[in-house]
Amino acid sequence: VKAKAKKAGKLAHDVNQAAVLGAGIMGGGIAYQSASKGTPIVMKDIAQPALDLGLNEAAKILTVQVARGRSTPEKMAKVLNHITPSLDYAAIKNSDIVVEAVVEHPKVKATVLAEVEQYVSEDAIIASNTSTISINLLAKSLKKPERFCGMHFFNPVHKMPLVEIIRGERSSEETIATVVAYASKMGKTPIVVNDCPGFFVNRVLFPYFAGFSGLLAEGADFAAVDKVMEKQFGWPMGPAYLLDVVGLDTGHHAQAVMAEGFPDRMGKNGKDAIDIMFENKRLGQKNAKGFYAYS
Ligand code: NAD
Repeated sequence: VKAKAKKAGKLAHDVNQAAVLGAGIMGGGIAYQSASKGTPIVMKDIAQPALDLGLNEAAKILTVQVARGRSTPEKMAKVLNHITPSLDYAAIKNSDIVVEAVVEHPKVKATVLAEVEQYVSEDAIIASNTSTISINLLAKSLKKPERFCGMHFFNPVHKMPLVEIIRGERSSEETIATVVAYASKMGKTPIVVNDCPGFFVNRVLFPYFAGFSGLLAEGADFAAVDKVMEKQFGWPMGPAYLLDVVGLDTGHHAQAVMAEGFPDRMGKNGKDAIDIMFENKRLGQKNAKGFYAYS
């Protein structure tokens, strides 16, 4: 294992400068995480208010850390200094790696990835934070698909240790090794998985949600299920609360991707709890009403 890791280490390019495209929930979190672990990062978006939100997100995390005595105002200033917000593609030109974290829309992502390739150097690595879109499909928008793979963070980025590195059919070993090394430098735990619907985490999570929906269809009380999973089974949260955190819109979309990818195992007869919640606009914490109410 050590020899394998050493070989992979040799293949990895140095990442001294990064960029993230999209300053949303994920882009802001990725920028914070990269900057706080010492890799300067350009955060590029298409709108100034979005950039302001992304920077605010990073500042909020840092403010909490300072208040809790885990950081100092000087360190906070240093981390924020490592994040360069920009509306201009020219700002990403010296990046060793670019992480795409724009809206989950195949056409928008394809356009953005093709644009990125025009600005970065020949050997820069490009990764997508997509949750549900095939890496092999996105790779088709690049002239050099070997420099591309998935880099799937989880929300909130600064708290969730796991990062799925998704190996596309054309991803080179250098690309995978570089993204693994960058994820490790960011203090994360990378796992390398093949490209398939749901990658790794959603393949485990969505059958669990389907089991939960099945219990509700048979009359179970969602809060009682949560209580058992949390208090007696010892998980940090039950399925209803987790769906509220993830967002029922995101959950609904990911579930459809899983059903299409694995019709035998994940196909449904009729509507389930996730469909019903989504249709009733109970999206979870993001709009303050999901399985639970939030104020
Ligand atoms: P978001 O809506 O919060 O942010 C998306 C950002 O992309 C916005 O600021 C928008 O202005 C920007 N954007 C749109 N088009 C752009 C372009 N052409 N160039 C640059 N920026 C552009 O979305 P999010 O929740 O941060 O999700 C981003 C990606 O991360 C998606 O692919 C999503 O599937 C994935 N993801 C999300 C989560 C989550 O829990 N939110 C978790 C893992 C992965």
